This record gives sequence, structure tokens and C-alpha cells, in this order.
Amino acid sequence: MGLEDCLSPVWNQAHVFLDSSTQGKKVLRRPYGRVDRPRLKKQLLARCIKHGVVFHKGVVKGAEHGEGVSSVQCADGTAVHSSVVLDATGHTRQLIQFAEGKKFDPGYQGAYGITAKVESHPFDVDSMLFMDWRDEHTAADPAMQNSNEKLPTFLYVMPFAKDRLFLEETSLVARPAVDFPELKERLQARMQHYGIKVTEVEDEEYCLIPMGGVLPQVPQRILGNGGSAGMVHPSTGYMVARTLGGAPTLADAIVEQLCAPTDKASSSRSEPGPQNEQEANAMAASIWNEAIWPVERLRQRIFFNFGMEVLLKLNLTDTRQFFAAFFDLSDHHWQGFLSARLTFPQLIGFGLALFVNSSNRARANLLAKGTPGLIGVFFNLAKTVGK
Ligand SMILES: Cc1cc2nc3c(=O)[nH]c(=O)nc-3n(C[C@H](O)[C@H](O)[C@H](O)COP(=O)(O)OP(=O)(O)OC[C@H]3O[C@@H](n4cnc5c(N)ncnc54)[C@H](O)[C@@H]3O)c2cc1C
Repeated sequence: MGLEDCLSPVWNQAHVFLDSSTQGKKVLRRPYGRVDRPRLKKQLLARCIKHGVVFHKGVVKGAEHGEGVSSVQCADGTAVHSSVVLDATGHTRQLIQFAEGKKFDPGYQGAYGITAKVESHPFDVDSMLFMDWRDEHTAADPAMQNSNEKLPTFLYVMPFAKDRLFLEETSLVARPAVDFPELKERLQARMQHYGIKVTEVEDEEYCLIPMGGVLPQVPQRILGNGGSAGMVHPSTGYMVARTLGGAPTLADAIVEQLCAPTDKASSSRSEPGPQNEQEANAMAASIWNEAIWPVERLRQRIFFNFGMEVLLKLNLTDTRQFFAAFFDLSDHHWQGFLSARLTFPQLIGFGLALFVNSSNRARANLLAKGTPGLIGVFFNLAKTVGK
């Protein structure tokens, strides 16, 4: 059983509605799957058990290092000792250090959603609805219409059956976050407009994902992965696929570093792992630079951060124009951008193609809202030269 078996259901295509016009509907010919989290967790745990992973249940409070050994302290007073510690505490970032004086100032993706049984709904069950930017549901409420124009949110729908679906009102990125009561109110207005009558709410989802902002100190003695290492795609909020995809590379880099001293032909050592702090720091630095934040990924993130800063400035009209140009790009460009598979030079090509594809008004907008951020892009890129 592979991790792809943890996707259920899978839709063969997705829809985007920019507005209610015929041209406003886009069909994205790319499969879209929902991660079955209990199944994924079960499968990952089974793999760990099969390979002899030993678990220790506890709340981590801190870590100390000395003589090449790290000691992780738990709230119950126990300690776990090891050569390498990886912080996977997500956005709590319990052990990972950030550069002092640097403010953590991310954008936030906020969303409120429900999984519900309904009498009926108007969505095509063979497609998932990736983004619905239509705003007719706000017509009867000028205050909602106004706030949605300034800070737009979209509807995201996974239709499971004709009478069961997941609906979520999502703010792509905002700083500060759009709050949950507002998201809930907009979702209810939308459901009323679409004539969706809920018969049972099975689950409620409150989502708040920090996006972009400063990275942890690279390198540092403690390793990071996922949320703790700032791996969320700053322009989309996605991270799960990328982190799972990168996990084997990270695991290989750790094994390689731990075994390097014993692998040397001249070595008389029998035990893998560092023997002092200098070695431990050097090993951690190699892993950060090769597998967690290699220079190519750092440059990619600079571009995505720039994208996020532009998105933060777009109102509903601008957002529609942006996505009209975005989804008219080649599959290679829009899919590569969303899945973080484009290299930095390819991202430059993406940016130019987006600019060429945009309407005159959208181009003027991109120039006005993007140009100030370009200085930061060049400054941050300069810091990666020679790494
Ligand atoms: C409602 C919602 C919907 C989302 N949808 C998507 C999506 O569609 N696609 C996508 O890519 N991302 C999505 N995300 C974001 C994604 O879930 C997170 O970015 C991801 O889970 C972060 O993974 P992680 O392993 O780094 O951290 P987490 O999944 O947060 O896991 C961290 C773990 O560490 C534990 N922990 C924390 N502190 C301590 C401590 N001191 N001691 C011991 N354990 C500790 C926590 O209990 C938790 O089990 C969504 C998030 C939410 C909330």
C-alpha cells in the first residue's frame, strides 16, 4: 500500500468560478484528492513499527546539547537522549530557533468549513470546486459585499455525494487573518444563496495557517521539517504533499551524516554519530543546507513570499483578474507553481508569462503592487549568492 492509497476520494478535475459569466468558469484538468488523515496516520505508524521505531509519549519542553549528545526534556520530567533531534511540532515550533530581533510576521490563510449531509446541492459530484469567487450571495448585504470586495474569500467544495459534501469559506491570505465569525457568516450567506439546506453537520473545521514570514535560523543544531521549518508554501498554504515528498531525502541526509565518520576508510570508530559539539553542529549544518533548505528552495521561497505580498494587496476585482491570467497559463506553469515544483529560473519564466497573459489593468496592478517588493526580492536573493 502506497501513500497515494491514502487519497480518498479523488476527483478527475476541478472547477474555478471567477465570476458568474461564462468566461469566468475554468476547468482544471488535473486530479484532486482528499487526504484521508486517519488512513495516512495508520499507514505511517505501521511503517514506523515495521522498522523498529521506538515511541516515547510526552510533551517536549526543551533540549540541551553537549559532547555530541542532545537531551530532549519532557514535561513529565523524563529525558530522551540522541545524536540528532528533529523538531516536528508544526507551527508551535517548540525547539526551533529564530534569529533574534526578527519579527515573525506571516500572512494567514483562514478558513471555516463543515462536512455536512444536505437535502441537495448544486455542485457537480464528479469535480471538486477549487475556488468560487462569485459574490452574488452578498448582494442583499452591502456591508458584507463591501468587506468581501476589500478582503475577498472564496468557497472551496469537495462534493462526496448528491447529499453530502465539505464546504469551506477560505481567505487565501490576509494579514491580520480574516476572523472565524466573518468566515462563518459568509459561508452561511453562500449556502442560503445556493439553496443548500443542511440536515446534519458531521464535522466543523477551523483552519489558520501561517504563511511566509521569516525562516528559522539556517543552519542550527536542532533540525526542522514541515511547519516548524517554515515549509508552508507562502502563496497557497499547501505543505503536506511537499513535506511528505521531501521526507526520504531528509532521512537519507540524516543517515548519511550520522554514518559519515564510521564510513571513512581511515576511521577507527565503530559507533555512528558525532563525538563532540563541533561535529554535531557540522552534521546539522550539512543536513539543513542539503535537505531542509538547500539554496534552490531558499530562492523559490523568496519568489513565493513575493507572490504572497502581492496577493495580500489584491481586492476581489484584482484577485479575479489575477486568477484569470493564472489559470490561462500553461499546465506546466500553473501546476508547477501550486505544487512548488518550479525551479527559481522557471519561476522567473512563470512571472513573465503571467505578466504577458494579464489584462492591461491587471498588468498595471501587478506593476503598482509588485514593484516595491522587488527590492526585497533582490536583497534576499543576494544573501543566497555563494551559499
Ligand atoms: C483545518 C486545516 C486544513 C488544512 N488543509 C490543508 C491542505 O489542504 N493542504 C495542505 O497542504 N495543508 C493544509 N493544512 C495545513 C497543514 O495541516 C499543516 O501545514 C501541517 O499539518 C503541518 O504539519 P506538521 O507535521 O509540520 O505539524 P502538525 O501537523 O501541526 O503536527 C505537529 C505535531 O506536534 C505535536 N506537538 C506540538 N507541540 C508539541 C510538544 N511540545 N511536544 C510534543 N508534541 C508536540 C502536535 O500535537 C502535533 O501532533 C491545513 C490545516 C488546517 C488546520
